[in-house]
Amino acid sequence: MNAPRDLPVTRLDAAVIGAGVAGLYQLHRLREMGLNVRAYETGSGVGGTWYWNRYPGARFDSQAEIYQYWFDEAMYKAWQPSERFPAQPETERWLNWVADRMDLKKDIQFDTRIDSAHFNEATQRWDLTTRQGERIDAQYLVCCMGMLSAPLTDRFPGQSSFQGQILHTALWPQEGVDLKGKRVAVIGTGATGIQVIQTIKGEVGEMTVFVRTPQYIIPMRNPKYSAADWAGWGERFHELKQRVRSTFAGFDYDFDAPPWDTLTPAEREAVLERLWDDGSLSLWLSSFPEMFFDEAVSEVVSEFVRRKMRDRLQHDPALCELLIPTDYGFGTHRVPLENGYLEAYLQDNVHTVNCRQTPIERIVPEGIQTADGTVHPFDVIIMAVGFDAGSGALTRVDIRGRGGRSLKEEWQREIRTAMGMQIHGYPNLFSTASPLAPTAALCNMTTCLQAQVDWVTDCIAYARAQGKTVIEPTREFEDAWVAHHDETANQTLVVKTDSWYMGSNVEGKPRRLLSYIGGVGNYHRQCDEQAAQGYPGFAMR
Ligand code: NAP
Repeated sequence: MNAPRDLPVTRLDAAVIGAGVAGLYQLHRLREMGLNVRAYETGSGVGGTWYWNRYPGARFDSQAEIYQYWFDEAMYKAWQPSERFPAQPETERWLNWVADRMDLKKDIQFDTRIDSAHFNEATQRWDLTTRQGERIDAQYLVCCMGMLSAPLTDRFPGQSSFQGQILHTALWPQEGVDLKGKRVAVIGTGATGIQVIQTIKGEVGEMTVFVRTPQYIIPMRNPKYSAADWAGWGERFHELKQRVRSTFAGFDYDFDAPPWDTLTPAEREAVLERLWDDGSLSLWLSSFPEMFFDEAVSEVVSEFVRRKMRDRLQHDPALCELLIPTDYGFGTHRVPLENGYLEAYLQDNVHTVNCRQTPIERIVPEGIQTADGTVHPFDVIIMAVGFDAGSGALTRVDIRGRGGRSLKEEWQREIRTAMGMQIHGYPNLFSTASPLAPTAALCNMTTCLQAQVDWVTDCIAYARAQGKTVIEPTREFEDAWVAHHDETANQTLVVKTDSWYMGSNVEGKPRRLLSYIGGVGNYHRQCDEQAAQGYPGFAMR
C-alpha cells in the first residue's frame, strides 16, 4: 500500500514525529549533526504531554532538579523552577522557553498529524503522509510520540448522547472548563484522576467519583524553590547529570537501605517512615527492592501504606473498603503522589460509586447509568480513564515496514522491540518512550528520553560514517532483548497486577510488561555496549 502520488512532497534526511521533551531534543541533535530534519506535531505548540494534559492539578512526580535537559549547563542554571514538583503550566512554559532558546520552532510543523509511514523498498526511505495532505520522503523516521499519548477516548457506549460536557483529561480544552457549582463525575482514580479530584474538590458543586481499582498513594511534599535553592542544584549539575543515568529509576535517589533481612521490624519501619516523610516516589523507587520480588516484603510495605491511608480516612469502614487496595502489592501499579486526595472523600459534596459492585454500563443524555439501572445525573463528566500506553502512539499511525508488514497487526499479536528503540522489519525507524524500554516512573522520563535520543543520534552518525544507509535490528538481537526483558519482568510481582504497565487496560492487547524493569543504569549499560561494539545486534547496509 503506497501513499497517494499526487501530494506535494517534502524531502528530508530525517522526520521526527512529536515536539515534546524527546522530539525537541531529537530535532536539536539531528540538526546539530547537519541533517535536513523537520519535526511534525499534532498540537499547536510544543510540549507533548505538557501541551495536551491541561487538566486541573496536572503536575509531574519527578523533582524539578532532575526533570531537566542535560545538554546545556547554562540553560539548566538559567531556568528556575518555582517548586519541587511544578504544575503543567510551568512545565509547558519551560519547554517553550527551551524551544525558543534553541530556535527549534522554525523546524517544527505544528497542527500536523502523520497518518501513515510506509517504508519504500525501492528507495529504502520512509514515505509519510499527513492528514493535511502532504507527503514526506525521509531517510530516517524518529518517533518521539510519548508513552502515554494515545488517550482512551471511546470508553463507554452512548458517550455522544450526553447532553452536558464530556472531557478526557488528556484532551482538556485550552480555555479551561468552568466547574464552579456544577455536578461533576470523575471516572478513574489513577495518577490523573487523583490529581483532578484533589484539585477540583473545593470548586465543584457536587462530585461523584467512580472508583474501580483503588490506589496506594504517597503524600507529596512540594516546597517552593528559591534562587538560592536553584543555585545549589546548579552546583550539582555535572554530578546529577551522571547520577540519573545510573540509578534504578533515573532519579537522584537509589536503593540505599540495608538488605531487608538484616533489619529488625522496627528498623524497617524507620526506613519506611523516613522515605514516607520525604514526600516523593523514593518510598517506592529507593527503599527496599525486595518489595518487587518477595510477597512477604511487599505485604509489609503495603500494610505500612494502608495504615497511613486508614488514618487519613478517619477509619471510615466504607471509605477504607473502597479506597485502600488489598489485592495487589504496593508499587506493582504506578504509585501516584497526592496532596489532599483522600480528604476529598470526607467532604459532604463528594460521593462515590463502587464500580466493582456496580460497573458503568453506559452514558445516557442525563449522565451515567450503572449496572443496577441507576442513572446518575451530571453537568460534566471527566474521563480520567488512561491511555493505550506504549504501543498506542505508534499503532495509531499506519506504519508499514519491509514487505508491507503492518506494525499495528504485528503488535496485536505480540509487542516487541529491540531495547525499545528499533523494531526488526522496520529499517531506519527509531523511537523513544516505546515498549520494552524503561519508562514512566520506572524511569524519570527526561532521563531515559535524552539517553535514547543520544543513542539514536549516535547510531545514525555511526551508520553514516560507515557509508551505510539503512540500519535495522537483527531478529536474533530483538529475540534476545525480548527474552531478557521478560526474564527480568517475570521475576517481579508487577507482572501479576493488572494495569496499563501490563497492557491490561486495553481489551485484546497482548500482555507483556511495557516498561523495562531491570534498572535504568543496567539498561543504559546495555545500550552503551551495543554502541561501543559497533552495533553487533543491528544489521547495516
Ligand atoms: P490509568 O493509570 O490507566 O488510570 C485509569 C483509571 O481509569 C483507573 O482507575 C481505571 O480503573 C479507571 N477506569 C478505566 N476504565 C474504567 C471503567 N470502565 N470504569 C471505571 N473505571 C475505569 O491512567 P492515568 O491516571 O491517566 O495515568 C496513566 C499514567 O500517566 C500514570 O500511571 C503515570 O505514569 C502518568 N501520569 C503521571 C502523572 C504525574 O507525573 N504526576 C500524572 C498523571 C498521569 P482500573 O484500574 O480498574 O482499570
